[in-house]
Amino acid sequence: KDGGNSSGNSRIMVFVRLRPMWKKEREAGSRSCVRIVNKRDVYLTEFANENDYLRLKRLRGRHFTFDASFPDTSAQKEVYSTTTAELVEAVLQGRNGSVFCNGATGAGKTYTMLGTVENPGVMVLAIKDLFNKIRQRSYDGNHVVHLSYLEVYNETVRDLLSPGRPLVLREDKQGIVAAGLTHYRAYSTDEVMALLQQGNLNRTTEPTRANETSSRSHAILQVAVEYKVKDASNNAVNRVGKLSLIDLAGSERALATDQRTLRSLEGANINKSLLALSSCINALVEGKKHIPYRNSKLTQLLKDSLGGACNTVMIANISPSNLSFGETQNTLHWADRAKEI
Ligand code: ADP
Ligand code: MG
Repeated sequence: KDGGNSSGNSRIMVFVRLRPMWKKEREAGSRSCVRIVNKRDVYLTEFANENDYLRLKRLRGRHFTFDASFPDTSAQKEVYSTTTAELVEAVLQGRNGSVFCNGATGAGKTYTMLGTVENPGVMVLAIKDLFNKIRQRSYDGNHVVHLSYLEVYNETVRDLLSPGRPLVLREDKQGIVAAGLTHYRAYSTDEVMALLQQGNLNRTTEPTRANETSSRSHAILQVAVEYKVKDASNNAVNRVGKLSLIDLAGSERALATDQRTLRSLEGANINKSLLALSSCINALVEGKKHIPYRNSKLTQLLKDSLGGACNTVMIANISPSNLSFGETQNTLHWADRAKEI
């Protein structure tokens, strides 16, 4: 077994989600520089900062198109069912898949992934859907669901369900695993929301910005579904499908599509895991044989869920404000490139 990432039929679906303008932003005089048309096309319109005239000229009227683009009025359920519901179905058939949210800090990644108690996000809706599907098919007792929730911060792996010492990554017959990570057996959705909210509070906060979730922390929720099937000679064999849901660190300084910029950033104190993920996606885009999974904790952990026969979903979160124009542009370029896989 090679974790399923050597065959060529990888697929990535790329989505964009625009968050609403904050009151604070509007009061500060910020204007919207993003327009979404036909639930697919994203127009990045010129912005008002006259000091940036040269850049403005170069960037005027950028247009992108994605598998779907969500305007700021989109409901959590709509985002879930368009982006992730299919992957949940695949997981029930023993396949792996992953959903990434990326974008700058404040662009809406955690809202999209985790959401709030009133408006649960993709993580919670996926688990809810999973339990519904298991129940509907009366796969009674045959399906066992385990959750793990961890953080990669500064190349240190921590268990978000049971905070404590950093976890060591080990290679075993299942692939690369975090030794000692909690695998929580879940029986219903109700318990999960509270668990994830609590886990989210355990994410590392920046020492200088108390009570604010770190913009440099990646949170990975993995949902593994294990079940038995009969093989050709009527023996029961175990199957496992795994869904990884990843709330990535803020991309504001790490997203770069060309190799020269990438290299120049590498010396700076930039998020190693985010760069490594970007390199892996570039290598997949270019159809390279060697995918550099080894370069970071994040990519090692996701080795069996990225590329190959796995389904990958990327949700690029963007702010409408012209004050975030540069970050939005970077995010859209990166998403546009990921589309080519
Ligand atoms: P990030 O995780 O990318 O740093 P957050 O998800 O924490 O950003 O979003 C920043 C703020 O904007 C939060 O207060 C969040 O509730 C709000 N927000 C983000 N996206 C939406 C949305 N689609 N609808 C309503 N509020 C949102
Ligand atoms: Mg966040």
